[in-house]
Amino acid sequence: MTRSSPSLSSTSIPNIDRNSKLHIKASEIADLFVLENGFLQKAVDQYNIQALEGLAKHTERGLPMIPSYVSDTPTGKEVGTFLALDLGGTNFRVCSVELHGNSTYSIVQKKTTVPDSIMKSTLHEFINYLADRVQEFLNEYHASFLQECKKDSSHKPLKVGFTFSFPVNQTHINRGTLIRWTKGYDIKDAVGKDIPLALQQELDKRNLHVFIAAVVNDTVGTLMSRAYTKPSNCGDTVIGCIFGTGTNGAYSEPLVNITKFDRSAAPEVKSDEMIINTEWGSFDNDLKILPNNKYDNQVNLNTRNPGFHMFEKRVSGMFLGELLRLCMVDLHSQGLLFTSPEAKAELFTTEGNINNQSDLFTPWSMNTAVPAVFHSDNTPDLSPSAKHISRHLQFTPTLEELVSIQLIARSIGKRAAAMAAIPLAGAIIHTRALEKHEKVDIGADGSVVENYPYFQEMIREALAQTSLGPKGVERITLGIAKDGSGVGAALCALEAKEYH
Ligand code: ADP
Ligand code: MG
Repeated sequence: MTRSSPSLSSTSIPNIDRNSKLHIKASEIADLFVLENGFLQKAVDQYNIQALEGLAKHTERGLPMIPSYVSDTPTGKEVGTFLALDLGGTNFRVCSVELHGNSTYSIVQKKTTVPDSIMKSTLHEFINYLADRVQEFLNEYHASFLQECKKDSSHKPLKVGFTFSFPVNQTHINRGTLIRWTKGYDIKDAVGKDIPLALQQELDKRNLHVFIAAVVNDTVGTLMSRAYTKPSNCGDTVIGCIFGTGTNGAYSEPLVNITKFDRSAAPEVKSDEMIINTEWGSFDNDLKILPNNKYDNQVNLNTRNPGFHMFEKRVSGMFLGELLRLCMVDLHSQGLLFTSPEAKAELFTTEGNINNQSDLFTPWSMNTAVPAVFHSDNTPDLSPSAKHISRHLQFTPTLEELVSIQLIARSIGKRAAAMAAIPLAGAIIHTRALEKHEKVDIGADGSVVENYPYFQEMIREALAQTSLGPKGVERITLGIAKDGSGVGAALCALEAKEYH
């Protein structure tokens, strides 16, 4: 691919020396992030090979392709009131979702920050904390429901969809044991336990009359919520995807193709299709096809899981700012970048050592907002970029320096978006979605796909370079799916049969 894409054109080109050593070196670095012609289709083919392997058996390093136990995607006509619980890295959210049956919904929610003491407590304390929040919420928003249940103990319970964003070994739509904690949680006696079951038992003890009907992954929630809320002129929603801190996606697969799935162990599964949570962040952990330049390598070695989530490390929000920072450090170490007296005063100590306090030398100090601001900056003096990065650096780079950083930032962003197209094209081709549907829709969520400039356009450009071709891409819509963990979880709860 070339770097002269229309989405990258500048309205006014900053006036700097294009033959300077810095500019030449920065161009070379930017080129390290340019994908080779023909790469995308080869990568799509490889993705589908690895996806099929994942459907056949579980391996430590392959694509996990996890059966979600959720089968039907909604039509937009679903109705009812549901609770949605959403436990992520920092917050626990309790929501009441009312589906109106015309693709619209209303939602009331209460969010609390999970205290550090609970994140490192015992299963008993943790479950009690969650149950307390559910109880408070029901008392505040569903008092009459609780009253009715008191009068009539056979009253139908309120169904709950539980978005639990941790690795779970799911055994039924509403059952799953915790594999390990992530995101700062460390409740030792909870590992290996069925968290939704433990919460259900505590809620039952309190006579709260709610039924946890589904445990939901955020990708599945995104697919469901987009299928429910999408505008009527969009096609059938076949993929739910996340491009935020990490990246992941879900799509529907005929059960006969999920050869590792033991149907006899889940007699409640009646449908012939099931939504698969691909965990595509793990695509090509063995780097059979993914590009791997020296900055990719450095990022990988600086993570807690080197050698894993290799696709994610080139695509998602946690990594794009860090890639840019490493490129800047390299240019700086060669004496080419940040050479003004103002910069030197900030980046070196009075003894001439590197100032370790500077964000430039601090791993993970810059998030994807940094390349995002550079990417969209079409001003002649790059002042928005200067303003943004000077908050990190405590000095203002020169225009020539800003232009060099921009060159690299755009290359990192463009590669990320182009690679984001790989699993999307993979799933559309594998499921023959364009043969089955006149129009095909993708629901997406996450700050990167929502806020990174031109990200969606760049994904579409890349999709057109695969065998889908420009004509195929014309039949594909991609839209932001709000609230997968609320509306999506409610829809999963609605679908769930009464399984205890
Ligand atoms: P989560 O994945 O935890 O649900 P988000 O979807 O908000 O959270 O994604 C967070 C990621 O978004 C961070 O890794 C950050 O680097 C990135 N990010 C923050 N601001 C922007 C921006 N303006 N443009 C693109 N990415 C951004
Ligand atoms: Mg998210």
